[in-house]
Amino acid sequence: MKVAIAGAGIGGLSAAWALRKAGVAVTVFDQGPIPNPLATSHDEHRITRHIYPGLDGYGQLMPDAFRAYDTLWQDLGQRHFGPRPMVHVSRGEVSYFPAAEAEMNALGIPIRPLPLDGLAAMIPVLETSGIREAFEVGGTGVLFAARTITALAAWLAENGADLRPHSRVTDVDPDSATVTVDGRRDSFDAVIVAAGAWVSDLVPQTSQRLVPSRQLVLYLEPPQDMASAWAQAPIIIDMGSGSYGAYVLPPCNGTRLKIGDHRFTRTGHGSDDRTPTAADIAPVREALTGTLRGSDRYRIIEEKVCYYTVSANERFVSEPLGKSGWLLSACSGHGFKLGPLMGLGVADALTGKRAAEDVSRWAAGLGGL
Ligand SMILES: Cc1cc2nc3c(=O)[nH]c(=O)nc-3n(C[C@H](O)[C@H](O)[C@H](O)COP(=O)(O)OP(=O)(O)OC[C@H]3O[C@@H](n4cnc5c(N)ncnc54)[C@H](O)[C@@H]3O)c2cc1C
Repeated sequence: MKVAIAGAGIGGLSAAWALRKAGVAVTVFDQGPIPNPLATSHDEHRITRHIYPGLDGYGQLMPDAFRAYDTLWQDLGQRHFGPRPMVHVSRGEVSYFPAAEAEMNALGIPIRPLPLDGLAAMIPVLETSGIREAFEVGGTGVLFAARTITALAAWLAENGADLRPHSRVTDVDPDSATVTVDGRRDSFDAVIVAAGAWVSDLVPQTSQRLVPSRQLVLYLEPPQDMASAWAQAPIIIDMGSGSYGAYVLPPCNGTRLKIGDHRFTRTGHGSDDRTPTAADIAPVREALTGTLRGSDRYRIIEEKVCYYTVSANERFVSEPLGKSGWLLSACSGHGFKLGPLMGLGVADALTGKRAAEDVSRWAAGLGGL
């Protein structure tokens, strides 16, 4: 069996990894280098966690997602993961703890409420004014994303995959499993489209369903007197009072301090100019001021524009496309942590190990292994 994959982000590379392990011949095309710095997957880090507020079904997938990464680290001979606790705070009326506690208890993951009067001493980097609820949860950590996809691409090259950088796919025919690159049409037995924020260029019928969302993250240099506090700091999720949804990754293992805001813009295209605009920066600045104590003392060292692909319900799309195609699209902020697991799912579907409709339901967090 010969499979073509359009897109060499964590989705396409993970599918290629899983297929190679199943003995399938794979050709991976990317419009840029492999890995591509413009891919959503190409950033210093991504958060992984078991806790999944508000998206039923995905918490149950997380133990398998962690196991899939363990298998990947074994294959790569390198572990691009740093365990780190997470603290979740909120400043509004909504209480997130009861649902989170029930979810974590079901998975056997530690979770504990944090006393608000001890919070400033425990996490000196955090702006504590207005916090109404805080809890710490385990089973979380940092995936070093760019290092992971770089190592994965190297593993694929060493393990017989045909990697085609600078090969933009201009047309996919999922019925005949043909792929056109540089005016040349090649035939395969199956074709996977894992084109991230560019997916609707290749599968136009997804344009309403899978929407690119331009987002900005800030890389920061903390004041020197905060360095030791940051060395101990957890990953921080700050729901604000509902006005923003900040996530903060502490500097670790040679990566930089980063803050982003989870509010989607649902605008743009992956190939748009990525020079940050005032509109890109404003929401993250608001999140920064709200979340970190003494935020004006931090030096902004990079304002980075990147793209999510967003669906209305934030659930993964992993489904058959035509007679011989497969569409794999991470939706919103959970594509990296689930990448290898989703790759294994696609390989199972294409090799007939699992029924396609079961894989699609499972990937959407709707059960059915
Ligand atoms: C700011 C931000 C924060 C995030 N935080 C987290 C997090 O904390 N945890 C988490 O799990 N996830 C997070 N995510 C989501 C996660 O990074 C993505 O879901 C995931 O990386 C998407 O991977 P992908 O392979 O689908 O897409 P991509 O990584 O974008 O890969 C798609 C590839 O397809 C290529 N391509 C496109 N069109 C063509 C074509 N026609 N021909 C050839 N190649 C093509 C592109 O060049 C690209 O390399 C975050 C995303 C963003 C933007």
